[in-house]
Amino acid sequence: MTAEIIDGKAFAADLRARVAEHVPAFVKASGRKPGLAVVLVGDDPASQVYVGSKGKATVAAGMESFEHILPASTPQDDLNALIARLNADDSVDGILVQLPLPDGLDEAAAVAAIDPAKDVDGLTDANVARLANNEVGLVPCTPFGCMMLLNDRLGELAGLDAVVVGRSQLVGRPMAQLLINANCTVTVAHSRTRNLPAIVHNADIVVAAVGRAEMVKGDWLKPGAVVIDVGINRLAPTEKGKKGQLVGDVAFGEADHVKAITPVPGGVGPMTIAVLLRNTLVAAHARAGLAPPD
Ligand code: NDP
Repeated sequence: MTAEIIDGKAFAADLRARVAEHVPAFVKASGRKPGLAVVLVGDDPASQVYVGSKGKATVAAGMESFEHILPASTPQDDLNALIARLNADDSVDGILVQLPLPDGLDEAAAVAAIDPAKDVDGLTDANVARLANNEVGLVPCTPFGCMMLLNDRLGELAGLDAVVVGRSQLVGRPMAQLLINANCTVTVAHSRTRNLPAIVHNADIVVAAVGRAEMVKGDWLKPGAVVIDVGINRLAPTEKGKKGQLVGDVAFGEADHVKAITPVPGGVGPMTIAVLLRNTLVAAHARAGLAPPD
């Protein structure tokens, strides 16, 4: 492979360490640790693993972790009441409601109930508007992590052609917004896009956030492109009793000619939790009336 493999795992470890370095000064100035509350409704195994990892990383960074695990049968009013209590709790700086919620619960209503000052996932209308207006706010963790990797690899992004495949609220849309704010020329592709290979082939930067295993083929990618693969897809197991392989949305093995690419796993995935910690630290400083950490 001649393409550079972007080591998201190492970058994320470094970011987590930098966040942890800031915590003692915050504790000294405010008299308390930054606190992150994660709300998990239901027993989706993948979500349980994510919530467990978030809790461990939060404690490892010297912060307070509050986990609220509710049964799938939780009524919307109870979920909203918990969010209201967390909004009012001074020891909580960040609130993350693990998505997706079980059927019957309204995700938009749950997100809308979160105080924008504690919205470390950057999904409330207030933070979406700030991002759209290129103002300071809390930015969704996964796209923000992708931006950090792009900035680290490319430096100045102004004038580059970027294609984002996917337009979800969580990844595709905020990613496009961040790239616009960085003065890229941005195309957003989705399931109704015509001639996707040609559109991707025009791009200096490709961000794939679709959720379809190895959909973006190697010959779609321009030589020298930088490719950020957000997708996490598990292939069918080849052996009975074993888990299938994890792959991204890009055919990694066909991408030898690009400048740099994130692997799956070990690329964007680890960045998400590291940025969540960083957003919690930033929210804690803002709530305590302290200057943002660098
Ligand atoms: P969504 O399912 O919400 O969005 C998928 C997007 O892909 C939609 O905009 C959809 O278009 C588009 N799409 C679907 N099929 C095609 C197609 N054939 N051609 C072009 N576009 C298509 O997913 P998410 O954004 O939440 O997640 C995307 C992937 O990223 C998933 O694999 C997810 O697991 C992963 N992920 C990884 C994270 C990490 O930490 N690394 C965090 C979050 C997500 P349309 O809008 O028209 O339906």
